[in-house]
Formats: sequence, structure tokens, C-alpha cells
Amino acid sequence: GQMMTMHYLDPEAYRRAMAHRDDRHWVYHRAGLPCRVCGTTVLVEEAAGRKLYWCPKCQA
Ligand SMILES: [Zn+2]
Repeated sequence: GQMMTMHYLDPEAYRRAMAHRDDRHWVYHRAGLPCRVCGTTVLVEEAAGRKLYWCPKCQA
């Protein structure tokens, strides 16, 4: 049947799926998207383990 879920993936596939999910998470945040204020592409910086999203034009 078609009962394939994340729980039954082998470790390698699971790891890949998680990485992929992380990718999507990344994209769903603001990275690579235009700033809502000026339209400039938002950048991401990692500081102290936290991801910082900021617009190089607005500096915010
Ligand atoms: Zn901006």
C-alpha cells in the first residue's frame, strides 16, 4: 500500500529529509526574499547560533 511516512524511512533517507526540511524552513523565512519595505534581497547572518535576517539597505 501507500503507507510510507517519515517514521519508516531508513536513517540515510531520514537525514536527507530533515536536511530538505531545513532548507524549506530556511526559505520560508526571509532569506533570499525581497525586503517588505524596499524590495532589496534580505540577507542572513548567523550570530551566536541564531539566524539574523536583515536588509542591507534598511539595515534592519
Ligand atoms: Zn529594506
